[in-house]
Amino acid sequence: MASWGLRGIKTIRDFDLFEKNVFLRLDLNVPMDEAGKITDENRIVASLPTIQYAISQGARLVIASHLGRPKNRRDTSASLAPVGQRLSELLGKEVLLLHEPLTDSAGPLMKGLRKDQIVLLENLRYDAGETENSEAFAQNLESFTEIYINDAFGACHRAHASIEALPRMIRQKGIGFLIEKEVQMLDQLIHQPKKPFVCVLGGAKVSDKIGVIEKLIDQVDVFIIGGAMAYTFLQAKDVVVGKSLVEREKLNYCRQMFERLEARNKSILLPVDHIAAGSFSDTEGVTTPTQAMTSEQMGLDIGPKTIKNFEVAIKNGAMIFWNGPMGVFEKPAFSKGTFAIAKAMSESSGIKIVGGGDSAAAVAASGYSEKMTHISTGGGASLEYLQGDRLPGLEVLREKQR
Ligand code: AMP
Repeated sequence: MASWGLRGIKTIRDFDLFEKNVFLRLDLNVPMDEAGKITDENRIVASLPTIQYAISQGARLVIASHLGRPKNRRDTSASLAPVGQRLSELLGKEVLLLHEPLTDSAGPLMKGLRKDQIVLLENLRYDAGETENSEAFAQNLESFTEIYINDAFGACHRAHASIEALPRMIRQKGIGFLIEKEVQMLDQLIHQPKKPFVCVLGGAKVSDKIGVIEKLIDQVDVFIIGGAMAYTFLQAKDVVVGKSLVEREKLNYCRQMFERLEARNKSILLPVDHIAAGSFSDTEGVTTPTQAMTSEQMGLDIGPKTIKNFEVAIKNGAMIFWNGPMGVFEKPAFSKGTFAIAKAMSESSGIKIVGGGDSAAAVAASGYSEKMTHISTGGGASLEYLQGDRLPGLEVLREKQR
């Protein structure tokens, strides 16, 4: 039985790929430094099983992805060339980078492709037609595509041409192994939660996480709230939070949350101490208990007592979902709380799912990636999926249920 969110969607296993032109849409949008060196190759590595499967089945493979947000072709920092190079090393195959995917060359190139070669299209976003979900742009891609496979989970929430318009034109279409795993993992949180289920939320805003809170409120046993969003919850309890970030229009929502959780016999853990500073530009902070915060301070990370409380709850969880940093983790002085969550999750024996974005980056930087059950490659897509939104990239692949 297919996972709830995959009903009516075919997978790459359902097609005969032998000597077919297979268009594989991946999310190879990896961070690079100024010299064009890939600084986190997780998305490339996560795409390998689908690529290798397609090759093993004898497909003629054309891979496509976006990278960054280039304004035009002159922005060479957004070229997929370094990605192609790395793919070639990882696969032991020649990767032919097609600089002008919309010329007539792709079709003949695909027909003459040797078994040790694959084609990588240059950054789809070099053409405005990609983000505009242009039919004309998609038709060009369709002209050399026999089977369409989407494995770009991180891009599924965007109705762009290679995600939406192109598969609309193609009969044989489905997903790869990465999307299958991503959706199965997120479905487990919604439909088969293991108890106790601990949900760790952080980051900048309560408003960005309300959809997820609402979707999971009946499943979750303990909400752990850190990051800037904790200050709106604390202020809702009339605690002095000084200059910390507060969303005033969400104070009522937070007050109601306390009541709703109490009525459901569920708990919410908030910071009891903070690493506080005078402003965002500070590079040092002082450990400050919640009740000692002054009007001149702002909380920029959770403090050591809070870390201990959160660790205990996380280690007791049978299922843990984490999205959002506990502080301004981009600065070393305010990164301890976020890294402590990664460590506590790594030490838990439960099912551990990291919801992409900053939290995934923190897990990678802390070296605990191997210890997690699943780290989503799509922060925005995983949050949208979890809050019950229909992702255009999945819906276009779903056969209508009779
Ligand atoms: P989000 O995209 O909602 O996950 O938010 C991530 C951002 O929240 C990061 O850039 C953090 O620097 C920021 N952040 C986390 N905690 C705080 C805090 N206590 N005060 C201000 N910004 C924070």
